[in-house]
Amino acid sequence: MGSITLENVNKSFGEVQVIPDISLDIRDGEFVVFVGPSGCGKSTLLRLIAGLEDTTKGRILLDGQDVTKAPPARRGLAMVFQSYALYPHMTVRDNIAFPLKMAKAPREVIDQKVEYAARTLNLSSYLDRRPRALSGGQRQRVAIGRAIVREPKAFLFDEPLSNLDAALRVNMRLEITELHQQLKTTMIYVTHDQVEAMTMADRIVVLNAGRVEQFGSPLELYKQPANRFVAGFIGSPK
Ligand code: ADP
Ligand code: MG
Repeated sequence: MGSITLENVNKSFGEVQVIPDISLDIRDGEFVVFVGPSGCGKSTLLRLIAGLEDTTKGRILLDGQDVTKAPPARRGLAMVFQSYALYPHMTVRDNIAFPLKMAKAPREVIDQKVEYAARTLNLSSYLDRRPRALSGGQRQRVAIGRAIVREPKAFLFDEPLSNLDAALRVNMRLEITELHQQLKTTMIYVTHDQVEAMTMADRIVVLNAGRVEQFGSPLELYKQPANRFVAGFIGSPK
């Protein structure tokens, strides 16, 4: 299970209120994209869900359980960073296995989960390589593999493709949506790219200056944008 609820979440850094008041209900198994211009609070919102930032006010629930004060490790979520967050001195196998080793999982469990992640991501023949001997797309898949082995309730992606070239980005989008269809795990995907949002999401949260302008399916946003900001951002004809 992996439903995520935000209740009147507020986040301020000192005097600066970055997120005034957000409430959201993300269903188990949904692919939700947070989209909006740079600086609108996408990463902050994701980090609040992950537990990497504390809320100033409000509550965060996972599967109905209040995790507002729970540290990241207790939330059962996996954040996928950009591929450059891999350990360069470790093999692909050890990079993927890293969270399991930290959790002191038994050797057989580690091997089995790493094999599964590698098969799922077409990395089986690259397990003994180091990141520098991989393509950009393969590195990104290793970063995702490191999340898969944790069997999270939800995957949280923060602009994971932004340092890949355009052609590769299109491929990786497809791979991530295919992965979602296969795993059926909740995914939240942050991007400033409208095309990414429209092509990948079940539902899109359009953010602007820390506020939700609209939360709906790509078709709803396109056909019935809530306001000019959404229309302009999505590029719909309103
Ligand atoms: P986005 O990911 O949409 O580009 P962010 O969530 O990174 O936006 O940032 C939203 C706003 O919060 C920005 O104005 C940013 O400068 C500010 N901000 C983010 N993190 C911090 C922090 N640790 N301290 C102070 N301000 C921050
Ligand atoms: Mg960001």
